[in-house]
Amino acid sequence: MSYNFTDFLKKKNEKNLNEMTNQEIYYKLLEYVKERADEKTPNKSKKKIYYISAEFLIGKLLSNNLINLGIYKEVREELKAAGKNLSHIEEIEVEPSLGNGGLGRLASCFVDSMSTLGINGEGVGLNYHCGLFKQIFKNNEQTAEPNYWIEDQSWLRDTNIGYEVKFKNFSLHSKLKRIDILGYEKDTKNYLNLFDIESIDYNLIKNGISFDEENIEKNLTLFLYPDDSTKKGELLRIYQQYFMVSNAARLIIAEATEKGSNIHDLADYAFVQINDTHPSMVIPELIRIMTEEHNISFEEATEIVTKMTGYTNHTILAEALEKWPLDYLEEVVPNIVEIIKKLDKVIKAKYSDEKVQIIDNQNRVHMANMDIHFSSSVNGVAYLHTEILKNSELKEFYEIYPNKFNNKTNGITFRRWLESCNEDLADYLKELIGTGYLTDAENLKELLKYVDDKNVYEKLSQIKHENKIKLKKYLQHTQGIVIDENSIIDTQIKRFHEYKRQQMNALYVIKKYLDIKNGKLPERKITVLFGGKAAPAYIIAQDIIHLILCLSEIINNDSEVNKYLNVYLVENYNVGLAEKIIPATDISEQISLASKEASGTGNMKFMLNGALTLGTMDGANVEIHDLVGDENIYIFGKNSDDIIKLYETSGYVSKDYYKQDGIKEVVDFITSDKLLKVGNKERLERLQNELINKDWFMTLIDFEDYYNTKERMFKDYENKDLWYKKVINNIAKAGFFSSDRTIAQYENEIWKTKGTK
Ligand SMILES: *Cc1c(COP(=O)(O)O)cnc(C)c1O
Repeated sequence: MSYNFTDFLKKKNEKNLNEMTNQEIYYKLLEYVKERADEKTPNKSKKKIYYISAEFLIGKLLSNNLINLGIYKEVREELKAAGKNLSHIEEIEVEPSLGNGGLGRLASCFVDSMSTLGINGEGVGLNYHCGLFKQIFKNNEQTAEPNYWIEDQSWLRDTNIGYEVKFKNFSLHSKLKRIDILGYEKDTKNYLNLFDIESIDYNLIKNGISFDEENIEKNLTLFLYPDDSTKKGELLRIYQQYFMVSNAARLIIAEATEKGSNIHDLADYAFVQINDTHPSMVIPELIRIMTEEHNISFEEATEIVTKMTGYTNHTILAEALEKWPLDYLEEVVPNIVEIIKKLDKVIKAKYSDEKVQIIDNQNRVHMANMDIHFSSSVNGVAYLHTEILKNSELKEFYEIYPNKFNNKTNGITFRRWLESCNEDLADYLKELIGTGYLTDAENLKELLKYVDDKNVYEKLSQIKHENKIKLKKYLQHTQGIVIDENSIIDTQIKRFHEYKRQQMNALYVIKKYLDIKNGKLPERKITVLFGGKAAPAYIIAQDIIHLILCLSEIINNDSEVNKYLNVYLVENYNVGLAEKIIPATDISEQISLASKEASGTGNMKFMLNGALTLGTMDGANVEIHDLVGDENIYIFGKNSDDIIKLYETSGYVSKDYYKQDGIKEVVDFITSDKLLKVGNKERLERLQNELINKDWFMTLIDFEDYYNTKERMFKDYENKDLWYKKVINNIAKAGFFSSDRTIAQYENEIWKTKGTK
């Protein structure tokens, strides 16, 4: 008999399970899992991967760790025998707030896959105490509160590792905290390394999330993405970034030295993956340490660092690529500025093209440009995205370094996004095709045997229905939202951004509302679910949230309409909510303006959980389309070539579209008496004006096609055999989107740690 949770409690002289509260059980499970994790040994190889990221949107860890330890069902049975319910205990865990959106979620899937594949690779980031803000709706508007998530007992483990980080005017001592990253049924583990300071002071926080931004010694790891619309805010971000990478560099050098590196050979011991531009300063920092402390020449240090780093680009939105003013960097980390200037000189001597310079003529440092020149790999995150980088956004760089550019289409971990979040579906798949898909996701293709099996359609639709009921109970209990489990669930959950076009979905809702008012009734009730946060400084995104909240107030309270249409925006969208909403969804809204969404990973989660995609030919939607074929996905809208051309020629004039029949009426509704009665005039007028006179992300260009395609989708939904045949095709082809596949490609094509001794 193996050692189980009950044995653990006995050993600790604890009360019996049935005498414990759920809260007590949760903390004991935390201890038990940590003890089980202690049995695992670190992955070993000479070369180690350091995946540096400003964000890790890691999600709750209890159920995932139990699954990875292979004891989820066992523990649940032990609890059940004592009259306890594991899912109630899971609710007690507070979700870590260390990430913002897809980028941070990707980093978390990647550390999971590195452990599962037995790769010696760890995450490195910061331990933000209040993380990203908590979203609360008041008067149909988003407000932001600090998200305190760290409890006395948590997954964080203290270490005695810490370093001195020198800024211009003072030094800060770091301390490293770690979270175990357990691979799926592996004897080995890795860590997520989170650096922190000891002197955090919560008293700096005033109302909401505003705080004293200047007291760096007490605020450095307080918030993720502090408002950077002011100089103070920008400086704080530079402090955070340098603190993160300086610690990472120290950790890398300490671990390599311990293994016998003489630093000249550091590239044999370490590879740094730079996740977006936030960790870019690791390049000059490593060069600085090598030249100042290890007597290595600037030329050699530059060569070593170039060899041991790779850069992942996540966006083509110019405004999202960081460009720090040189004098801001000078105020925070003058030593790094010296190195950056030297690197810039090297480039200016070789290339005259303005577009590839590191320091531009306004003295701003283009972090991505530095990364591209001084790393050995540059990757995009989906096929289309990488093509756009090579052929348009980073064309000048691609011409210089054709061999550096490569694609690594994003992925998701199936342990969290199927096994854990949709247990009924996972169990049914095991019944049909065995457990092989959990370690080799391509095995999902075996499902195609059942593509014409009506019994399978029936069972999949039952599972979907059960998941809708579970979501209903959860939302009712936690947010007071009551959804109808017999309605079709149409979901758009992601950060609010104009390029993701939640506003287009909101216009659809208006049109549907007007249709219903005019007696054009849908065959089945439609529930439109939204979820997502908007950056507090992003006004138009706040306005879009406001519009949706107002629409939901009007529609859900209108007895003529609410029989056919409900609209909800769930509060404080996070990983936990995603895990509940995705398995219950029928329609996955992936409607970004073509060319703008680098990859998306939400699209993959929905596909795997049996929702059909309503999307544009953007990001990884293109690859979903390639895999499932035209008949199993609902594609609409202009393609990326057309859109890129329109930007080049300034060929889009929103007013021309606004004037068309069927669009004007819908856009005008934004400032109708009905909406002004529940909404804020300034916000609604500003949003309407934006749509009519600017509309940078071309909402109106695809509206008609979007509306018609969605109508076709609702019609198809009524034909259950047709719909579930498509669903099976989607699940069966989703194997490609396992992050195990993505990470195996990073390993085989870039990192090459395996076999290094
Ligand atoms: C997957 C995920 C995202 C990314 O969603 P996209 O649709 O790809 O933008 C963002 N937030 C959470 C909580 C997620 O789980």
